[in-house]
Amino acid sequence: MNCPICSNKLKETGKINPIFNKPLFFCDTCVSWHIIENVDVSTYYKEEYHKNYQYKINFLRKLNLTGNRAIANYAYFNKNFKISIGEEFIEIGGGTGDKFIIFNKKKKPKQYVIIEPDVRFNINKPNVAYMNNLFNEVNSENLNPNSIVIMFHVLEHVFDLNSFFEKLKSIKPKCFYFEVPNCNNQKVREDSFINHPHFHHFTKKSVSVLLEKNGLKKLSLDEIEPISYHPYIKPNKIMKYVHRIFAKHEEIKENGIYLRGIYKFSD
Ligand SMILES: [Zn+2]
Repeated sequence: MNCPICSNKLKETGKINPIFNKPLFFCDTCVSWHIIENVDVSTYYKEEYHKNYQYKINFLRKLNLTGNRAIANYAYFNKNFKISIGEEFIEIGGGTGDKFIIFNKKKKPKQYVIIEPDVRFNINKPNVAYMNNLFNEVNSENLNPNSIVIMFHVLEHVFDLNSFFEKLKSIKPKCFYFEVPNCNNQKVREDSFINHPHFHHFTKKSVSVLLEKNGLKKLSLDEIEPISYHPYIKPNKIMKYVHRIFAKHEEIKENGIYLRGIYKFSD
């Protein structure tokens, strides 16, 4: 069995992902971990995946509030890429729409297409269009070329990485802005192995190899450690507010819990 990223021989880890009930393999060449048997997840993402988050989302969305995490996601992109007013966006796995809310406040997108299988998240705004499907089931002819493609915490859920990047390339994005868990971080790696339906577990090295192999060119790639928000260490309410005032949302740090990058297809 070979690594889906670098094609070198995989090693057994002896670990099993309990959601898929499938064994995990390790590639020590590009430093990544994989489940190598496919599992049909289409119904899972439509019905199961987000079911526990519903109440909180509706509350925040009614108030049009943006959390520190969404602000940080916007700030990183705005710092590393020139975003104009009135661009077109495509967000794959848009979830709650938190990134739409901040990009809409800051850059007034002409159109923001959200590809999200769970219909309960749909936002009714004039410049938002929904495709309630998985990306691999969407007809790419319906997507506008030269859009900014955003995809946070989705790539690790995609079984067939090669078809994914072929499809991404076919929609001719202006750039690809993404984030995945950084599995170079031990806590993240253990969490990713056990608690999530992840087929792949990436590190900076494996993500670089994967994207470059698929014809993408790096504009930025960083290991990020959150400060004003954190899934493992909850900052207290006052500090959360203080960090927000000083816009100290996160830092670039070796082994930070997220791996975030901006890439574009080379011409
Ligand atoms: Zn590999």
